[in-house]
Amino acid sequence: TVERTLESDTAPGATADGRAVALLANIGTAEDAARVAGGGVEGVGLFRTEVLFLESTAAPSQEAQAAVYTRVLRSFGDRKVVVRTLDAGADKPLAFATQPDEENPALGVRGYRLVRTHPELLDTQLEALAHAQTATGTTPWVMAPMIATAAEAREFARRARAAGVATVGVMIEVPAAALRAQEILAEVDFVSLGTNDLAQYTMATDRLRGELADLLDPWQPAVLDLVDATARAGQQARKPVGVCGESASDPVLALVLVGLGVTSLSMSAGAVPAVRYALRHHTTAECATMAAAALAAPSAAEGRSAVVGLLHADV
Ligand code: PEP
Ligand code: MG
Repeated sequence: TVERTLESDTAPGATADGRAVALLANIGTAEDAARVAGGGVEGVGLFRTEVLFLESTAAPSQEAQAAVYTRVLRSFGDRKVVVRTLDAGADKPLAFATQPDEENPALGVRGYRLVRTHPELLDTQLEALAHAQTATGTTPWVMAPMIATAAEAREFARRARAAGVATVGVMIEVPAAALRAQEILAEVDFVSLGTNDLAQYTMATDRLRGELADLLDPWQPAVLDLVDATARAGQQARKPVGVCGESASDPVLALVLVGLGVTSLSMSAGAVPAVRYALRHHTTAECATMAAAALAAPSAAEGRSAVVGLLHADV
C-alpha cells in the first residue's frame, strides 16, 4: 500500500520548502511516450531518438521521423518534451550512420560529431522535429549529445534555430564540456547532464564493463565535481541544468544533485515516485548539506554513506 500511495501521487516534484524540481521521463519510442504520459511525470527530459532506428539499414526519411515525433509530442500536449538528436556510435550503433572500422568507437565519430561526415542526417532530423512542432502546436526542446566544445554548441544551435526549433540545448557528458559549461551556456538555452557518459569519460571506464562498476559510480567525487561546476555555471547564467543519466533515478543521489543546483531530473518513469517522495521530505538547505558531504568524501562509497546518514525520511 505504501507503494500504491507513492504511485498514485502525481504532484509536481518539489523539495520540502517548495523549490520546484521537474520530474521527467526518459523515453525511446512513441509507445514509451503513450505509456508514461498517463503517469505522474511532468514531461520528457530525454527522448533517445536513435532507439527508433537501431534496426534501420537506411537513413529514415523526414516524413517518417516527423510522424513519430508528432505522436510523441501529442502524447504530452503542453508538457515539456526534450528531444535528443541522434546519438549514434559506440554503445548505440546505427547501420546507416556509424563507421564500422573505428578502433575506439566511444572516442570516435559519435553523437553530434556525426555532423562532420553526415550533416544531412542532423538537418533532416531537425526539419522533421520542426514539422512535428507545427503540426502539434507544441514547443519541443531539442538537444545534441556528445558536445565537447562551445564551438560545437554554437553550430548546433545555429542549425536547430535555422530549422525552426526555438529552444536549444546540449548534453554535458564530456568532461571538457563540464569544465567549460559557462562558455557553452552562452550559446544555448539549457544543458542536460548525461551522467552515464560523464562518468565513463571522467573515470576512463567503459560504461558496459560490469566489473568496473565501482569506478563508473556516479557518486565518484570527481564526477560530482563536474556536476557541481556545470550547475554553478547554470545558476550564473540563469539557465536550466537538468540531469538525464541513471544517477537521477537514485533517490539519495537525486537529493545531492538538487543540492548541487540541478533544476530538473529525468529518469525511467518507474523511478519517479521514490524520487518525488525523497525530495518532498528534504529542504533545499538539507540537500545542499548532503551535496557538500558527497563532494568532501574521499570515495564514492564514503560519500554515499555520509549522505545516507543525513537522511531523515525512509527513502
Ligand atoms: C548519458 O550518457 O548519461 C545519457 C543520458 O545518455 P545515454 O545513456 O543515452 O548515452
Ligand atoms: Mg550519453
